[in-house]
Amino acid sequence: MTDDTWGRVRSELEKEVGANNYTTWIEPLRFTRADNGVAHFDVPTSFVGTWVQNNFGDRILRHLNLAGAQVERIVFDVSKVVVQRPVLTKITTKNADREIIPSSRVRQTLAQETSIPLDPKLTFDGFVVGKPNELAHAAARRVAEGGPVSFNPLFLYGGVGLGKTHLMHAIAWEAQKRNPELTTLYLSAEQFMYRFVRALRQRDTIAFKDLFRSVDILLVDDVQFIAGKDSTQDEFFHTFNALIDQKKQIILSADRAPGEIDGLEDRIKSRLQRGLVVDLHPTDYELRLGILQQKLEEHVAMDDSIVIADGVLEFLARRISNNVRVLEGALIRLFAFGSLVNREITLEVAQECLADVLRASERKVTVDEIMRQVCDHYNLRIADLLGPKRTRTIARPRQVAMYLAKKMTQRSLPEIGRRFGGRDHTTVIHAVRKITELQETDTRIAEDVTMLRRTLES
Ligand code: ADP
Ligand code: MG
Repeated sequence: MTDDTWGRVRSELEKEVGANNYTTWIEPLRFTRADNGVAHFDVPTSFVGTWVQNNFGDRILRHLNLAGAQVERIVFDVSKVVVQRPVLTKITTKNADREIIPSSRVRQTLAQETSIPLDPKLTFDGFVVGKPNELAHAAARRVAEGGPVSFNPLFLYGGVGLGKTHLMHAIAWEAQKRNPELTTLYLSAEQFMYRFVRALRQRDTIAFKDLFRSVDILLVDDVQFIAGKDSTQDEFFHTFNALIDQKKQIILSADRAPGEIDGLEDRIKSRLQRGLVVDLHPTDYELRLGILQQKLEEHVAMDDSIVIADGVLEFLARRISNNVRVLEGALIRLFAFGSLVNREITLEVAQECLADVLRASERKVTVDEIMRQVCDHYNLRIADLLGPKRTRTIARPRQVAMYLAKKMTQRSLPEIGRRFGGRDHTTVIHAVRKITELQETDTRIAEDVTMLRRTLES
């Protein structure tokens, strides 16, 4: 078998597999030698080798034999000529006329196949910024704009439906737009695990490692998922370190701060905390209203027959939970209803149409729940909260509980005082004031309160 034979076989293959497959998979193969019935090819990465072997191996073998080469087997060797880095160099072999496709192209194709398709709606343009998410948004923007990798990793966390996934898609879109040469890979931690497990099963972890270590921007959503999954964590940690060492950008999201993810190894926690950790706070009224207005505008652009009466959006923003997904769902239902019955959506119509959503959002936190959560959090007994002890370790949590009772329930100050072991309403006022102040000066207390609020609201 000669270079010539391979040349002819390549043309045949091109006809059979199509131009795209050809450029991505066949063209990068370098025929090196054939001996004892084995044809050797150099490939840029072992991933490409495995892929070609699995998908085109038989076909190549058949054509080689049709072309007169007596070959029983083909073997792919990872080429030493084809350097994978730096990203954008084109590499030519000794035969200057035959150019290997840039490895960045191969990598991009691989990453695209592994990445979850990005949702065209989830861009920065579609993201409404308000006080609760402005920091997260600013950090996401900065990272997407590229430049020196200063926040690495960027760790976004926050409760359900607050826009973590939206921001990650937006970063990926923006980064790709700014620099189409970059290889971006977005997936959830769960998918990361499945891919890893599959690689283990197929004894192909090298390709897996190759792929993940060769991207320019890695985005992993919902990393809390890998907590307690030891070998996945381990692999994740190595991937993570390899990319950080190469100054590649990593963006992660989770439903809570790194330090609060149980079952996550300490070394991972501390590594995650070395980047920028920002949280998305529960939405406030203004942000909810802003989001509703934006979604309404988007909808009206497509269907201007919809008429929403004054005050309806304000009503929804006030009454529906801080989960944006629920808010969006409610609005979509209103649109559908409006176009069905073909009439203006008034406050009454909205109330009727969304009765169930409104009822669900109404679920109010009770003082009992607050006490239970606070005790859980500080490892106390309810009796401690109600009792007379005034040592700091008990008094502080008691004040936190009173504060939350005031902020999260409709109970009056005297009522709250009574529930806390028959205390006076001035004690409650004092507690509310104290905790409000401490949140400004004492990060521990601030974190405790945020945590507790989040748990109670979910
Ligand atoms: P998370 O990943 O935090 O659970 P998502 O990013 O999936 O939340 O957001 C839930 C829904 O709410 C998505 O449809 C998203 O587009 C929308 N959303 C969340 N925050 C915003 C925002 N600030 N502006 C516009 N849409 C938002
Ligand atoms: Mg999400």
